[in-house]
Amino acid sequence: MLTPDRISLNTATVKEQWTLAQCIEGCARHGLGGISPWRDKLQEMGVTNAAKAIRDTGIRVSGLCRGGWYTGDGALTNAVLDDNRRAVDEAAGIGAECLVMVVGGLLPGSRDIGAARAMVEEGLAHTLDYARTAGINVAIEPLHPMTAADRAVVNTLRQALDICDRLGPGIGVAVDVYHVWWDPEVKAQIRRAGKDRLMAFHICDWLVPTTDLLNDRGMMGDGVIDIPGLRAEAESAGFDGLNEVEIFSTGNWWQRDPDEVLSTIVERGRIAC
Ligand code: ZN
Repeated sequence: MLTPDRISLNTATVKEQWTLAQCIEGCARHGLGGISPWRDKLQEMGVTNAAKAIRDTGIRVSGLCRGGWYTGDGALTNAVLDDNRRAVDEAAGIGAECLVMVVGGLLPGSRDIGAARAMVEEGLAHTLDYARTAGINVAIEPLHPMTAADRAVVNTLRQALDICDRLGPGIGVAVDVYHVWWDPEVKAQIRRAGKDRLMAFHICDWLVPTTDLLNDRGMMGDGVIDIPGLRAEAESAGFDGLNEVEIFSTGNWWQRDPDEVLSTIVERGRIAC
């Protein structure tokens, strides 16, 4: 059972319907404890305006989505590294508890996943150096292996935590149940992460059948993920952050009245999380 004050709204969940200003007001209206903006919505509103609106409502900022994409240019270009520094600045500007990293897929035209993974780790090291000076936590989000080619070559919590071990303090993981629920090691790796490296916890559900691998995520309770079990593991490992609801849903939740979406989130928090 999750009370609304323990829930954060990832703005992707209502991205077709609401601006960031509307999301902030919506969170306050439904009693949610926090928000996690995407950068496009944040840039549209402006960091200063968003920071003020968030402060005025008193909600937390469980994260900023997202930095990363280190492999997109085929090399660690200044453009890529600068964009990640800007992401850190934006996270600091709105008081985000972490900057979530979607690290990038294969290099354009390449079949060398090892090279992509090496580039990602080097890129993360650069961003982490800068993030430490800004006091921002960097959270690697391992993505389901179906996304390895085009989105993220970091695919398990074990792999992400191995990178964290090598890079040191200030970097941890965003556990998104949609991406890691299937992993036989998921609970052991949540325990391994521990309080300091469990920086974010994203919830939604895996529908059966799933009709689109990116944009057919389910509302908590409508699928097969043991959300209470994974959440209990994270909490017993010391995680005390918010549970961030992140649902990409072209055919369903993006079509609905966003107030209905938020009411449903609050209800499912009570009965399905
Ligand atoms: Zn996520």
